[in-house]
Amino acid sequence: MNLKDIFEKLYKAYGPQHWWPAETPFEMMTGAILTQNTAWSNVEKAILNFGGRLSPEFVLGIDTEELAQIIRPSGFFNQKAQRLKHLAEWFKIYDFDIDRIKSLDPESIRQELLSISGVGPETADSIMLYAFDFPYFVVDAYTRRIFSRLGFELPDGYEEIRSLFENSLERDADLFGEYHALIVRLAKEHCKKVPDCSGCPLSDICRYKLKADVRK
Ligand code: SF4
Repeated sequence: MNLKDIFEKLYKAYGPQHWWPAETPFEMMTGAILTQNTAWSNVEKAILNFGGRLSPEFVLGIDTEELAQIIRPSGFFNQKAQRLKHLAEWFKIYDFDIDRIKSLDPESIRQELLSISGVGPETADSIMLYAFDFPYFVVDAYTRRIFSRLGFELPDGYEEIRSLFENSLERDADLFGEYHALIVRLAKEHCKKVPDCSGCPLSDICRYKLKADVRK
């Protein structure tokens, strides 16, 4: 089974996921920072604490300590407040203009994002994909876990796994965005740390499940 077939199976089972859950591109970018090392429910609490004021201008205008208190529910709040400030400073270079960013060379934009302290490849690619609609595949721990269990020989490095997905699929931002969201859904509902394979939409093609059945 190839990566597109797996996408089709997941999409058939779960339908569209309407990601990323954010009102504006900057809220999305903020969420990408806040979700580092924490559950999404904590990010939601932190976003609510902005009380509708979340904007790059607001982030740049308030004290880092005050910002840290607003985002406190997301954990590592001092560190994340600094990261948000740096991200907003970068965004200001483009006058907070998403369309301007979208018209530029994506690889340069990605390199700029990666040069911001605290923005690694997963965060950068989430922003590339969900805020700017650039077709970059987001690789996370769920992706590694699910595809290893399915039986794929995944390379070790982030960039190599990203290339594997991007080169095996049509390079399309909508497809990549939906695929990543479906991976997260599967990981939360079935392919948890201890997998719950009963009812999993991929159980008929999964090597882990096959081996577990043989052992029974
Ligand atoms: S069958 Fe089990 S191990 Fe395989 S993808 Fe589904 S939940 Fe994960």
